[in-house]
Amino acid sequence: MAEKKQFQTESKKLLDMMINSIYTHKEIFLRELISNASDALDKLYFRSLTDTALGVNRSDLVIGIELDAAARTLRIADNGCGMTREELENNLGTIAKSGSFDFKRDNGASEDVDIIGQFGVGFYSAFMVADRITVETRAVGSSEAWRWESEGVDGYTVEPCDRALPGTLITLHLKDDTEDEKYTDYLQEFRIRELVRKYSDYIRYPIRMEVETSRPKEGSEGEYETLREVQTLNSMVPLWKKSPSEISEDEYATFYREKFYDYEKPAKTVHVRAEGLATYEALLFIPSRAPYNYYTTDYEKGLQLYSSGVMIMEKCADLLPDYFGFVRGLVDSADLSLNISREMLQHDRQLKVMAKAIEKKIRTELEKLQSSDRAAYESFFDAFGLQLKFGLYSDYGMHKDDLKELVMFRSSEVQEGQKYVTLKEYTLRMKEEQKTVYYACGETVDKIAHLPQVESVRARGYEVLYLTDDVDEFALQMLMEYDGKKFANVCTEKLDIETEQEKETVRRQNEDAGELLTHMKEALGGAVTAVRFTGTLGDHPVSLSSEGGLSVEMEKVLGKMPGAETGAAKATLVLEINASHPVADKLRALYENDKDKVADYAKILYAQARLINGLTIDNPTEISALICGLM
Ligand code: ADP
Repeated sequence: MAEKKQFQTESKKLLDMMINSIYTHKEIFLRELISNASDALDKLYFRSLTDTALGVNRSDLVIGIELDAAARTLRIADNGCGMTREELENNLGTIAKSGSFDFKRDNGASEDVDIIGQFGVGFYSAFMVADRITVETRAVGSSEAWRWESEGVDGYTVEPCDRALPGTLITLHLKDDTEDEKYTDYLQEFRIRELVRKYSDYIRYPIRMEVETSRPKEGSEGEYETLREVQTLNSMVPLWKKSPSEISEDEYATFYREKFYDYEKPAKTVHVRAEGLATYEALLFIPSRAPYNYYTTDYEKGLQLYSSGVMIMEKCADLLPDYFGFVRGLVDSADLSLNISREMLQHDRQLKVMAKAIEKKIRTELEKLQSSDRAAYESFFDAFGLQLKFGLYSDYGMHKDDLKELVMFRSSEVQEGQKYVTLKEYTLRMKEEQKTVYYACGETVDKIAHLPQVESVRARGYEVLYLTDDVDEFALQMLMEYDGKKFANVCTEKLDIETEQEKETVRRQNEDAGELLTHMKEALGGAVTAVRFTGTLGDHPVSLSSEGGLSVEMEKVLGKMPGAETGAAKATLVLEINASHPVADKLRALYENDKDKVADYAKILYAQARLINGLTIDNPTEISALICGLM
């Protein structure tokens, strides 16, 4: 007897879940095993492309299914790459897709239903229907064959066995029927045929099974004879080679989830069959959420690349621009050679043509989604909007015209049920006399909405874009204008929204208080370039604005960057005081009697303004002492 070995802990948990599964679609085990067999055939074929000594003929590669009702066994065989003893133990003793477990833990999902439905759990899913599984395998290039056997969580055995040819044979001993589950169904030919059609039809190797058929008996009219013959159960047409009209949304979604390990259906599926400069099929999916590692360097963009139905590259990065790096999918073209190397691909003219067409297709599809299903687009934008804005900003704005319709911003005037506005929406509803697109920056919509300048601009009936992402303002600056309209930061720029009379009043107020304001500026010791009365603060006493190219918000962002020295990038600040606020009267009065007090007031007002604008203060203890002194 071979010695019994233990499963790795994670595998044991997964196995236990499979064995006791209450999952209603246990039938997917067949799809999982067939897909493993197909992968094994792919691997062998791949290898044979560079190693002709293997003598592999693609047309000989097959998957076989055999049912034995008396023995209660279902067998799946392939003549693929097989496994060495070491591979057998590594692959079937440990769980390959450890990611599925992490996911489950993170999300606190309690039902096995989630993990099975969402990921497909590979080989172990066979334990949902079998109480004993035997795997006999011989690796290509090896003369040894091995038998792995397990009845579940107590472990498995591995011992030598006989196999004339490379490949793998998996025998499932089906569980006894229960009230809820008729495992015997999986011994019925029609049921297996149905499952292969449903889940594995596009597998590109024939899946063969001996079945009972009937045909007209020769020589006698109207009589039939039954006989057994081997039939191919799958059509072998890959999904993307079929006509889109023959494919249901469900089929696309299942294909996507299985192939790209997502548990949600895609936000958008794009199936392209192109002829012309380049002839290819592309099946593209826009995920509805960002993978957990999307915004990290771990994430690798790229599309699978096929040459006439045979995969030649797992992730072809050259097919996608960075800003559409979230798109998953594949491209299949007969124009590409099977043996093309990575280096050659980079310079391949066909590939460049395809990449360009794909970029354009994704862009127009996103624009369509934006106008046809706003809610779906907004949730897509929640996941990938940041990427689009980075795209607009990066490469010195090279792609800004391609992306300007796709980016959206928070705003003071969002429509009911929406979260964002597009630049087109903003500019279309601009007031006649309004020359620029107004925006303001801050951490949250709420904080921005309460900025004095924002309140004042809004009070005059203008819409303000609320830039809450660090990259937003950089993106707008890169864009420079939209539809001929420039952008103006309401906190830093002269907006020219006051009436002539208002302007005149403020001009006079500044002139009259010239000495007071200079005195205050000096009291702040160079922290600001000017102190000014203004008429655009609504009810608020003070605010900061900045002059020059660097806004207060950009100073904050740059200050947060790794390696930033304190004070390296400083906005040029102006302390603005509401000319019609009681505080202004107080300052004017104090300046007559107690100039020292004015200096203290200046410091307090400056600190307040910094806080209102979301900046920190350098001297909290001094300010606290000053305030207590006033109390
Ligand atoms: P996954 O297929 O997602 O990697 P599985 O648990 O289904 O996970 O399989 C684990 C590994 O076992 C596979 O990656 C493969 O290396 C190996 N394997 C499974 N079935 C076969 C097979 N029929 N022939 C060769 N190797 C196989």
